[in-house]
Amino acid sequence: MKEEKATSWKLNEYPKIEKEDIDFPEEINLVYAVCGQSCSLQEIIVQGSTEICQYCNKRMKLIGKASYTLDKIWEDNK
Ligand SMILES: [Zn+2]
Repeated sequence: MKEEKATSWKLNEYPKIEKEDIDFPEEINLVYAVCGQSCSLQEIIVQGSTEICQYCNKRMKLIGKASYTLDKIWEDNK
């Protein structure tokens, strides 16, 4: 599994978004996805987002689904 070193934008290059303006969904569906045996990635993804493996670029198999309801919004997220 290859991982490339990530770089960051300068702080003033990120958009200015206030926490009050963020709409977290009240409920979200997650899917457990697995990639091929030679890649072996297994991860939890948001249902409806990409099913393409970020490492080998092939479609992952979706195994199980779960639904989560918003419980709390952390105050220290930035
Ligand atoms: Zn893969």
